[in-house]
Amino acid sequence: MTNQTMYELGNQPSLIRELFAYGLAQAKVVGPENVFDYTLGNPSIPTPDAVTQAIKDILDDTDSIKIHGYSMAGGFDGTREAIAANLNERYGTDIKASNLFITCGAAPALISVIKGLAVEGAEIMAIAPFFPEYRPFVNNNGAKLVVVPADREHFQIDLAKVEELMTPNTQAIIINSPNNPSGVVYTKETLTALAELLTKKGEEYGHPIYIIADEPYRELVYGGVEVPFIPNIYKNTIVCYSWSKSLSLPGERIGYFLVPDACENAQEVFLAASGAARVNGHVCAPTLPQMVIERCVGEMPNLQAYDDNRTLLYDSLTAMGYRCAKPDGAFYLFVEVPGGDDFGFCMKAKEEHNLLVVPGTGFDCPGYMRLSYCVSNEMIRRSLPAFEKMIADLK
Ligand code: PLP
Repeated sequence: MTNQTMYELGNQPSLIRELFAYGLAQAKVVGPENVFDYTLGNPSIPTPDAVTQAIKDILDDTDSIKIHGYSMAGGFDGTREAIAANLNERYGTDIKASNLFITCGAAPALISVIKGLAVEGAEIMAIAPFFPEYRPFVNNNGAKLVVVPADREHFQIDLAKVEELMTPNTQAIIINSPNNPSGVVYTKETLTALAELLTKKGEEYGHPIYIIADEPYRELVYGGVEVPFIPNIYKNTIVCYSWSKSLSLPGERIGYFLVPDACENAQEVFLAASGAARVNGHVCAPTLPQMVIERCVGEMPNLQAYDDNRTLLYDSLTAMGYRCAKPDGAFYLFVEVPGGDDFGFCMKAKEEHNLLVVPGTGFDCPGYMRLSYCVSNEMIRRSLPAFEKMIADLK
């Protein structure tokens, strides 16, 4: 006998992983140059040289017992101080090391915060389209996911829908900007209006409604677009961050949650999320990456390769007649599927062209497909005739 919910989660195939595996198998049959894989969000630009150098330096200049030992559950003081100083310099905040808890990436940070906030009957909102893992993260950690339908015009936030779906049980809303899968950055106007709504409803319900800001793509923006720091707009914001994408370190598993002092019940929220981390088996984040972050927290990625891919893909697809919200950040394009049948389109693309794209249904937004453009520019060029043929067949 096993827990059926867990069994089903473990047994449920991930379409993204299946498509990726299909691509690997097909590459052996038709040659890797004839497979166009837009499935995974695995960074394709190398980690900055400063990070590689820091790893070498730490191995040379630090006691190996420290490098491979445990740290405090919330992370090394030095790492947290460096992160706090970096945030304060960039956003004019007053964050302290004690507001930060270092985690094994954004996913465990989210789970800790969600579980920590999950009072009896708690509802947590997510705005479509969203990272599919929010569903198991919320629904299996003591809360219920409430989905706000997508604003299909601009992929900002449909505030009327948010208000309509709120109840006295609404405990938090997850905001992911730059967004996976749309690539859209929520504007300051959108976030300010959301903050006003949450303040109003919080007063009406007699408890704060928290924003959980999921920000692994914070630094991945193009053309100088601003990504507002949400705690500066809404005080009840808890940030979940990761260096998986910004420093191309997804395998190192390093991120944090941040509960600023200004947050209502900050200390209680911080401790509840820390307790939730403990229950989920968190002992400490890996120590070598913590030391690397202490030395490299100010490093910024060189985004030129992603930006070139974004421009090539967006310009080429829109010229063919595809419609797509302008992506200002992350490394995804969320494209309207001609005819609206996202599964049909993705299966035909796979079977006829070895073109692997992910149906929008998985992101709670049917009728679209997600393309991860953290791939080679050359692959994009080679894939364009397949996109052309797909849209021609549907005309
Ligand atoms: N949140 C979003 C929106 C993501 O796209 C991802 C990973 O793709 C994560 C969280 C998890 O990231 P991490 O590797 O930091 O756990």
